[in-house]
Amino acid sequence: MVGTALQRRLIWRTAEVVDLVDETPRVRSLVLAVPGWPGHQAGQHVDVRLTADDGYQTQRSYSIASPQSTDERLTLTIERLDDGEVSPYLARELHAGDQLELRGPIGGYFVWAPALGGPLLLIAGGSGSCPLMAMLRLRQAAGSTVPARLLYSSRSLDEVIYRSELARLVAAGSGLEVMLTLTRAQPPGWTGLHRRIDTEMLQSVAWSPAERPWIFICGPTPLVETAASALVDLGHEPARIKTERFGPTGG
Ligand SMILES: Cc1cc2nc3c(=O)[nH]c(=O)nc-3n(C[C@H](O)[C@H](O)[C@H](O)COP(=O)(O)OP(=O)(O)OC[C@H]3O[C@@H](n4cnc5c(N)ncnc54)[C@H](O)[C@@H]3O)c2cc1C
Repeated sequence: MVGTALQRRLIWRTAEVVDLVDETPRVRSLVLAVPGWPGHQAGQHVDVRLTADDGYQTQRSYSIASPQSTDERLTLTIERLDDGEVSPYLARELHAGDQLELRGPIGGYFVWAPALGGPLLLIAGGSGSCPLMAMLRLRQAAGSTVPARLLYSSRSLDEVIYRSELARLVAAGSGLEVMLTLTRAQPPGWTGLHRRIDTEMLQSVAWSPAERPWIFICGPTPLVETAASALVDLGHEPARIKTERFGPTGG
């Protein structure tokens, strides 16, 4: 039975672009209608497959940024890498009404639901905020007041994905705190963090290990590895630290 359910989920489905949202100058969200979508958990991803006119195919993984809903829609948020094969097409060329193929949901490890509880410590670099946003959107939609903190590393304030939505979620007063660190450029008068994530920063942001937070870290591989090993050194249980690596570089 489990095998049948898995096969049903992992068939390639046709998705239609129904809306496009520019999140930052390099990042665009795609709202997709996916007939037959079986639903997903916050933190899961899909594979997207593109086929050229000559039959050449290529595929990439993208996190689902939207929480579970009943309308067979989901949102992907794509950062455009200018020398990339797939992301410039998804983040710049697609229009409403265009179609693409996807399969999923994929992944059962990097997932959070209100029933798991907290505290919830989320650590993101760049587009690593996408699956974490699904968790924060779910937390809000479910009315959860589990204490949550997001430490989010971006190159500059303009590159902070979901910036205004994060401010609204914090203002909602449900126990979410967001700490931004801007690694390359800071606006005049910036008094916040302005360096790459390190042990000292994690120590000041994380709850104590005794409070046993669930920790989700997502972003470029070096950021994920640095943060995960620093948190283990600080005494957090490895089993409560979940990681997702997006790619080799970043900053
Ligand atoms: C589970 C999972 C979920 C992901 N979710 C998202 C998401 O929600 N949003 C998103 O934008 N991306 C996400 N990614 C990354 C995505 O799959 C692609 O790797 C990314 O879009 C680059 O693809 P590309 O074809 O444009 O670049 P490629 O042609 O594959 O690579 C171009 C160049 O960029 C470098 N590169 C590749 N990937 C990255 C990266 N992530 N960061 C920096 N440099 C890189 C390569 O080394 C190469 O030099 C996810 C990856 C994984 C594994």
